[in-house]
Amino acid sequence: MWCDVKLLDLILPVRCVVCDAGGEQLCRACRDAFPRLCPPWCHRCGAPTAWLVERCRECSGRRLAFASARAAVAYDEGVRRFVRAWKERGLRSLAAVAADEIADALSPPPGAAGLAFVPPDRARGLERGHHPAERLARELGDRWALPVLPVLGRTRPIPRQRGLSLADRRRNVAGAFAPARRAPAGLVLVDDVYTSGSTVGAAATALRKGGARRVDVVTFARVVR
Ligand SMILES: [Zn+2]
Ligand SMILES: [Zn+2]
Repeated sequence: MWCDVKLLDLILPVRCVVCDAGGEQLCRACRDAFPRLCPPWCHRCGAPTAWLVERCRECSGRRLAFASARAAVAYDEGVRRFVRAWKERGLRSLAAVAADEIADALSPPPGAAGLAFVPPDRARGLERGHHPAERLARELGDRWALPVLPVLGRTRPIPRQRGLSLADRRRNVAGAFAPARRAPAGLVLVDDVYTSGSTVGAAATALRKGGARRVDVVTFARVVR
């Protein structure tokens, strides 16, 4: 299916993936309109807050295997269209835009020896022909001068998370990842969108089993409640 879509992309004039204006894959106005996240936020999960807090309503009482989570932009309608085009239409150059946004907003966490990414679901990865989180990790690794380390593997596919409650999401991903090789003490875990933290939480658990003592999560976008 994606072959047909890619062929169409070659034939048709380039249009903005957000507003459909002709000329660029992402027009200046739509990029400028990305809702960029900045402090104050929750020190732990990165949710925007009225002032800097150690824990927030969203993450307090939850056991999370990562030390912190940060994202460049909030997941609004424009960002949703951008991520969809990037992930589902296979527009790989958008990964570079996402990495630029992260590198503009955030510095690499101190002590990080490399980047890990949420590994592809083999069935879905083949269907799309590329893997967005890995691509994002590679682009970000170039900007932060950190290596991308294949330290994380999957034990099974994850059923779709969309529409599930927090408890069901957690159950859905529990044990879905495993260490693929020994991880360094400090790592950054990269993914495209932070929704509830369940997926990156399960992935961070596996990284810590693999030897990481501290995992910091970085995503391009974050759902803000
Ligand atoms: Zn636009
Ligand atoms: Zn929080």
